[in-house]
Amino acid sequence: MKRTKALHLWTLFNEREAKMLTTSAGPVDLNDLADPATQQLIDNMLATMRRAEGIGLAAPQIGRSLQLAVIAPEVTVALDEPLIVVNPKLVHLSAETVTGEEGCLSIPRVFGLVARATQVTARFFDRHGRLTTLTARDLLARVIQHEVDHLNGRLFINRVTSYTRGQELLP
Ligand code: ZN
Repeated sequence: MKRTKALHLWTLFNEREAKMLTTSAGPVDLNDLADPATQQLIDNMLATMRRAEGIGLAAPQIGRSLQLAVIAPEVTVALDEPLIVVNPKLVHLSAETVTGEEGCLSIPRVFGLVARATQVTARFFDRHGRLTTLTARDLLARVIQHEVDHLNGRLFINRVTSYTRGQELLP
């Protein structure tokens, strides 16, 4: 039986943790996806995201410098299970952008408006190492861009045009 457990969430308010959150993550070795420890890590990330009531979580947010992120199925009716994103590349971003409010589990109680591409096409591997191409719009497109930013050491506050009071918790 697998045991999933929520992990410590790294935040910008701790110097060592902040360094991890602002550093580019290294690629996942696809051979490691067959390793039960990697599958366990993914399950633990899902548990961490759910406990924190987030809708997305990137590996650097739990102290692992890996290009790996999880996205909650609640983001869109198009998802019937969590999206596991390994070594993602954004192969297309629409010129059209939309401004929306974001927050981040690693920067508690901070919210702001960020312009993101309305539609993105991402190419990534799933948790079984299958190459996947996904075109997403609206909130899922926003969450994907937010998580890919994390993997490049970028935080939403680098893109905020104005801070807000926080109407809803985004990834
Ligand atoms: Zn975040």
